[in-house]
Amino acid sequence: MHKNQHFASDNNAGICPSVLATMLQNDSQHLSAYGEDPLTAQLIAQTRELFETDCQVFMVYSGTAANSLSLSALVQPYQSIVAHQTAHIQVDECSAPEFFTGGAKLITVAGEHGKLTPQQIEAVVTQRDDVHFPRVKAISLTQSTEMGTVYSVEELARIHEVKQQYSLRLHMDGARFANAVATLGVAPRQITWEVGVDVLSFGGTKNGLMAGEMVVFFNPSYAEGFEYRIKQAGQLASKMRYLSGGWLGLLADETWLKNARHANDMAERLYQRLKRMDGVRILFPRQANVVFAELPTSAIEGLYALGWHFYIFIGKNGCRLMCAWDTLPETVDAFADDLQVLLG
Ligand SMILES: *Cc1c(COP(=O)(O)O)cnc(C)c1O
Repeated sequence: MHKNQHFASDNNAGICPSVLATMLQNDSQHLSAYGEDPLTAQLIAQTRELFETDCQVFMVYSGTAANSLSLSALVQPYQSIVAHQTAHIQVDECSAPEFFTGGAKLITVAGEHGKLTPQQIEAVVTQRDDVHFPRVKAISLTQSTEMGTVYSVEELARIHEVKQQYSLRLHMDGARFANAVATLGVAPRQITWEVGVDVLSFGGTKNGLMAGEMVVFFNPSYAEGFEYRIKQAGQLASKMRYLSGGWLGLLADETWLKNARHANDMAERLYQRLKRMDGVRILFPRQANVVFAELPTSAIEGLYALGWHFYIFIGKNGCRLMCAWDTLPETVDAFADDLQVLLG
């Protein structure tokens, strides 16, 4: 079988058709650059409707920029940020958060299933308060997490309590925010500003955009001067109309949610096949659009030899099998069939 879909990453998928269509609307017209265009104005209005609040909305090219610049707005260079040890900001951003905050330190903890707990945050916050220690000023959590798990509203509410108790600030890396909303079936406000999120990196690229991640401030005081940070970082898109236009296609008819639900459903389909196989060990609860599974080395080599792409993430045999907005059920079935044959 010729394989044109894989499980390597959701950013290996293409651009979803409704996004492509709205990106190209008004393409023949000249429109103002740097976000002064009507599509960006419309996107800001729609984002405020989506979150049911008067948030401050910005656009950058990448998730790394969204995270790093968000954090730079929350902490001083001499402060620190608590995050999970598997957080993208810790292991996948080449120290961009440290660079853009001007030196703030990431302090990581090892919570179960890729999640921070209130106890761990409190332990880090209270361990020292002398001048020699970089005082914790912010929490950064990922929703859905790098391990494909999802914080419940209750878990977020408990983190919110610690945040308030110690006057911290809260950043959410929402590269896969849509998948979490789809899983929980909540309104976006319920897992953002209602639980104390000050700034959200709202990802769309993995969910069907070409590029363009939003930075959404629910606390306007932290957004002051943010446009200058964006420009200084080389992240101010001159033809922002296309990034905003793409987002309009993602938000229209709840495409962002439908895409995320589909990706989640495909991961569930894969999970249902894999959990029944002898020799396969599922590593985390399947809650978003990914299945982590430990496979025998011979099966991994066999799948690679058959032309499947996916990454080994944990140890030597912990495979990350990521589904995307366009993953076909046939792709899932073909992969599971091949694995079943390899396992014998
Ligand atoms: C993909 C991803 C990002 C964004 O990565 P970029 O390559 O910089 O766009 C951020 N956080 C998480 C958890 C991710 O998976």
